[in-house]
This record gives sequence, C-alpha cells and structure tokens, in this order.
Amino acid sequence: MSSPSSTVSAVAAEVLPQAARRRTFAVISHPDAGKSTLTEALALHARVIGQAGAVHGKAGRRGTVSDWMDMEKARGISITSAALQFEYRDAVVNLLDTPGHADFSEDTYRVLTAVDAAVMLIDAAKGLEAQTMKLFAVCRHRGIPVITVVNKWDRPGKDALELMDEVSERTGLVPTPLTWPVGIAGDFRGVLDRRDGSYHRFTRTAGGATIAPEEVLPATAAAAREGDVWGQAVEESELLDATEADHDQERFLAGETTPVIFASAVSNFGVGALLDVLVDLAPAPSGRPDADGAVRKLDDPFSAFVFKVQSGMDAAHRDRLAYIRICSGVFERGMVVTHSTSGRPFATKYAQHVFGRDRESVDVAYPGDVVGLVNANALSVGDSLYVESKVAFPPLTTFAPEHFAVMRARSTATFKQFRRGIGQLGSEGVAQILRSDRRGDQAPVLAVVGPMQFEVAQHRMENEFGAPVELDHLSYTIAVRTDAASAPAVGAARGVEVMEREDGELLALFRDKWDLRTLQQRSPELTLEPLVAAQL
Ligand code: GDP
Repeated sequence: MSSPSSTVSAVAAEVLPQAARRRTFAVISHPDAGKSTLTEALALHARVIGQAGAVHGKAGRRGTVSDWMDMEKARGISITSAALQFEYRDAVVNLLDTPGHADFSEDTYRVLTAVDAAVMLIDAAKGLEAQTMKLFAVCRHRGIPVITVVNKWDRPGKDALELMDEVSERTGLVPTPLTWPVGIAGDFRGVLDRRDGSYHRFTRTAGGATIAPEEVLPATAAAAREGDVWGQAVEESELLDATEADHDQERFLAGETTPVIFASAVSNFGVGALLDVLVDLAPAPSGRPDADGAVRKLDDPFSAFVFKVQSGMDAAHRDRLAYIRICSGVFERGMVVTHSTSGRPFATKYAQHVFGRDRESVDVAYPGDVVGLVNANALSVGDSLYVESKVAFPPLTTFAPEHFAVMRARSTATFKQFRRGIGQLGSEGVAQILRSDRRGDQAPVLAVVGPMQFEVAQHRMENEFGAPVELDHLSYTIAVRTDAASAPAVGAARGVEVMEREDGELLALFRDKWDLRTLQQRSPELTLEPLVAAQL
C-alpha cells in the first residue's frame, strides 16, 4: 500500500501532461447565432449525450443541454453559466457556457477570465452582430486567441469572401480560413480543406440528431462530382493563398489572426472539424499571473479562482455553487484549501462537474478544469483558493453600472429573508449592492449593467428567498469612483449621491455625463474616476 504522500506526488507528477491535454474555451456569439445548437453538437460528438436534445426541453423547440432555469426557458435565453467537460482524441475539452444576452455581459466577462481560447460563432446571413463585437472586445482585451466559425451555411447568407472582409475590417484579426465552402450559403455542398485540398462533402442527418458521417473525397473526385461549384471554391481558396490568409500558429496565439471554418451546427457539419482545430491549435493552460504579477506555474501547488457563484439553480438542487477554474496543481476532492480573502480553510468535500441539470462528482481535476464547489457559502466571485504557498489572483473587473434601483421588501416581516437574499445576490455578482446611511439597510440600491439583471434579482428574491420586493428605479445613469476625502463635497453637489459598494468602494452616482462634467470642471480637486465600461 502506498503512503498518502507518495500517492499525492504520483498525482502531482501528472500535472504537466494533464494540463497539456486541456483545452478550455467558451463560445462567444450574438443570440440566435446557434450557440446552444453548437454546444449540443459538440457534446454529441464527444458522445456525452446519446442523441442531441435528449436531455430536456426548452419552450417551442427541442431542448439543449446548456439551457435551464425557469426564466431562461420562458425567455429562451441562457442566463447562467456552466461548464461541459468531455474527452476528444487525446484531449480533455472544457466548454464554458456563456449567457447570450447583452444584459449579462458582466457574467460573460467573468467566464472569459477562465478560458484559454474563444470560438466566435457567426450567423452566415448576419455577419458580425453587436453582442459578438462586444464579447470579441473582451477577448482582445484579455489577449484570448479566437477561432471563427461561420454557422448556418446551409441557409442563404452572405458571400464567403465578403464575410472574411467583414471579420478583418471589424475585428482587426486576419482571417485564415482552414476550410472553404463549396457552394454558396444556402447551397452548401461541403468544404474544401485548405490544408490538404480534400473535399468534405456535406451530409445531413434528420434534425442533426446523430453525428453525420463525413465523406472525404480527393480533389479530382470533387471536381467530377461538383463541377463548376468546386472550381469556384478552388479559385477562391487560391485567391486567399495569395493574401496572408494562411494559418500561422504564432500569430494566432498572439491574437493577430483567426482560423475560420464553415459549419452547419444544426446538421452537425463542421463540428468535428472545430474539435480538431481546438485540439490541434488552441492553447493548453499556462501559468497565471497573480495580483502582483508573479506567475503561478502549472506545477506549483494547487490554486484556483472563483469566476462564478450561483445558487437556487433548480428545485432539485437548492444550494450554492462556486465555480472555480484551476490554475495550478492538482485538485483532489476532500482536500482542504485556503480561502485567500479570509485566510480560512475550506474543505472541498463536495465537488462536481456541472452542466445544465447534470451533476457528477469530481475526484481529481487539473489546471484548465472547472469544478463546482457545493455549499460554498463563504466564497465570492473573484476569490482565490490555494494550498501551501499563498496566492491571490487579480480581482475580477466589475463593470460600470448604468441602471440603478432601490430594492425594498414588500413586507417588513420578510426582512430577514430580504437581507439574506441581498447578500447572496451581491456575492454572486447578480447586481452590485450599494448602501448609504441616508437610505438605510432596508433600502439598498442595486446597480446593474443591463436592466434584465433587475428582473433576475426580483425573481430570485421572491422565489428563492421568500422575500417579494419592489423596485424603485432611480434616474442615475453613471457611477464613478470617489474617495472618503472627496465624498462629502461630491455628495453635496446637486443631483449627485455617494454610496458605498460591498467591496468598500465609494461610488458617486450622476444623472448624466453633463452633471459629472460640470462638477469635474467646477471642482477639479475632487476624486472622480471612471469605472471600467461595459464595452471596454
Ligand atoms: P443561440 O441563441 O445562439 O443559442 O442559438 P440557438 O442554438 O438557440 O439557435 C437559434 C436558431 O437557429 C434555432 O432555431 C436553431 O435551430 C437554428 N440554427 C442553429 N444552427 C443552425 C444551422 O447551422 N443552420 C440552420 N439552418 N439553423 C440553425
């Protein structure tokens, strides 16, 4: 029998090879581009689920594994985030789900702090849409390499070369197509693999419910079969050869280029190709800088940070989960880690992979993996966890809120529940919670980036915490940072209010930028600093 310490070191020796197998990514897209469909198709390819959509229903159409919660179902949008893990070839793929709606951009931002690559999913007919651009800006800001998937090629859409121009002009990334469509959008015959010149014929299966068999033909057979349509694809591909449109791994990792593939997620076409691109080209996890800039190496002792906290996900599991991304070392269920913020120990007795409604116990996990820690009441978004040598990763950015409302319990009898709910929503990052002596504890102000966050907060206060609330919208649209020295003078200005956020930051709320500018001009000595804008 091996001693516990030799078991630990045997597992530790696995860290580097295991980390090298990991591909951790998220899909960024505008609502309706096909993110849920693609996620489901990826899971199907990995054979996590036997048949696409078999897991549960979503209003009006076949359900997908990544969407849940009543409100999501009712609205048909994905609000919360989860992670799907599966093996593909020799790799372990972690797909982190992101909310599609713009109002939850802050949630998505946090998810993007936990990935090593992003897949930018574009609807062939719509090109780059607003939310895609916002999320792309986050990837660029964080230096995350981006793989582009042009989806819905089975439907009429834009011209492929035109789409490449659009990508290049609007993102500044040089598109380097790995595959090129044979047949225009709506007349999808298949793709030309630009790496070896072969033809991958588009085959569909009913409803895309099972993996479509891939038929690969050499160029000569493709020419005989598709005639002019093949000829045109070859011509366009050669046109790309003449530009700088060939994949260059270094430039891709540096965020200068984006490999592109063409797909039809609903027919599962291109999904295998995407998985291959992820395994072959997307980066594995690497060391992560801490708040002081020192790099925590992959094989240093265990460390992780919380990028998402969630509770009351569904009636069957009414508990609080903290999702951590592992940065270094090995995670073993049951290990006791230190919570960096409080210095207190945290026992990881219950650790799970969570995706949609499905949960599975995690025994061992490596850098790049996401683990949901159950009953993590002490953990908040942005917190770090470690063993042995202390580490604190940089705090996660909170966006500048643009909407403000006072929240009150409808009945004073539920004040205890109200207070508990507010605390919970604050630590999950559902809304920023602002307080002041003037407004008192019973009337905190909720500050959000998108108004739908109010709806989520209101819904959860009533349904999860048993404290029905009313919201009183305020006319502020801007919050800036101030400090204790400036606060009295700032707060005395007309139409301005100073409140304290849960992290101790003092925020000055203004009705509009003119009010802010007026005060800045009149009293330049006052501290009034911008917060990070939602658009970055
Ligand atoms: P999400 O909002 O980005 O998650 O998008 P969904 O996955 O819910 O897809 C939106 C709609 O587009 C659904 O009706 C899908 O069936 C459809 N869709 C997704 N991918 C494709 C595709 O490749 N081709 C076609 N024709 N429709 C697709």
